Amino acid sequence: MIKADFVIVGAGLTGSTIARILTDNGQDVVIVDRKDHIAGNIYDYKDESGAMIHKYGPHYFRCGSEKIWNFLNRFTEFYNWSALLKSKVGNEYLSWPVNEDYINKIVGEDWNLFKGEPLNFEEVCLSRMPKQIYEMFIKGYTEKQWGVKATELSKDLAVRITINKGNVNTLTPHHKWNALPRYGYTEMMRSMVNGIPLTLQYDYLRNKEAVIANKLLVFTGPVDEFFNYKHGKLKYRGQNRRIEHLENTEQHQPCIQVNYPNPEDPRIRTIEWKHLMHPDDKAKVKGTMLTHETPFTPENANQYEYPFPDKQNKELYEQYKSEADALSDVLICGRLGEYRYYDMDQAIGRAMKLATEIMEKFEISSSVEYV
Ligand SMILES: Cc1cc2nc3c(=O)[nH]c(=O)nc-3n(C[C@H](O)[C@H](O)[C@H](O)COP(=O)(O)OP(=O)(O)OC[C@H]3O[C@@H](n4cnc5c(N)ncnc54)[C@H](O)[C@@H]3O)c2cc1C
Repeated sequence: MIKADFVIVGAGLTGSTIARILTDNGQDVVIVDRKDHIAGNIYDYKDESGAMIHKYGPHYFRCGSEKIWNFLNRFTEFYNWSALLKSKVGNEYLSWPVNEDYINKIVGEDWNLFKGEPLNFEEVCLSRMPKQIYEMFIKGYTEKQWGVKATELSKDLAVRITINKGNVNTLTPHHKWNALPRYGYTEMMRSMVNGIPLTLQYDYLRNKEAVIANKLLVFTGPVDEFFNYKHGKLKYRGQNRRIEHLENTEQHQPCIQVNYPNPEDPRIRTIEWKHLMHPDDKAKVKGTMLTHETPFTPENANQYEYPFPDKQNKELYEQYKSEADALSDVLICGRLGEYRYYDMDQAIGRAMKLATEIMEKFEISSSVEYV
């Protein structure tokens, strides 16, 4: 039997942040997760070679909010680290995101852009960059990632496509903090949930009758699964990951992540983990470890990664959302609960806001302002 005033389903960033804040404010909280580890999608581990591997894909932390940054610094030290990515175009490794100087060099300063109201992902991209650049870096990559033509994807997806100013090459130069937790995300999360009762390998949906939340159940799993898929299944994309150990190679590629926009190559990107490690740890790795990622459409909820950006899934999610909003004793939230891609800092910011609303609802006073 799992019983507490607040039962949190999911030990990822969303569930753990809400659990930590409620616990800090004197509440009776327990966490359950069906995985055999904490940290949800940001789980990482050191493998036998000594390389730090992010099990569910590379996670680059960036943040512009002092409140979020200070909150996380309670649980870990960080080291400064900015992601530098390349795309392999032909035989060349070219910087990604592209920057203005590079585009000017390739097409000149007079960019011929799409005119009129863009209606889909491709048209938004073409309204912001020349066609040649779009085809070199984005079209093939995007169509592999989603398994459909770029013209079938929502224009909202293009928010994530940036063109860097001047000759800047880092992935997220506009954020104040680009950093990684010194001992990895899992250790950071272990410290975040320290002292909170936690049960792993416990699927709430299979054990509902054995769970009592006196005040509120916070559910951070897939919203359609919560409602037993009554309106149909929301679509996600995920990645098949093949790990490769090159025992006798010191360095395989020039940076942490190489993207493959070439439609002939089924892979979408290769990660070389050494590049994101702290120099002291990196020096101890034997050879080098790679993860090759190939996109697919998962059926298993534990492999859900990116919500599918089209109208049909948006409408389906709205049906689930209105049912979720009507529940007074359950809060469904997080990347899977809200069917939404949140960067880590956004997921924490959202969880802080929700925790504040929960405290207001249950009249719990707090000396800390989280948002
Ligand atoms: C491939 C990929 C790469 C990413 N890279 C970056 C990046 O570089 N930088 C960045 O800032 N962000 C990145 N993110 C985003 C980041 O992963 C999310 O912000 C974060 O994981 C959100 O945490 P969450 O708690 O909402 O979800 P999750 O971490 O998925 O946690 C949900 C938890 O709920 C558990 N659960 C679900 N159903 C049940 C159930 N029925 N019973 C019990 N437990 C259950 C799950 O096991 C899981 O542990 C990336 C995301 C993806 C998909």
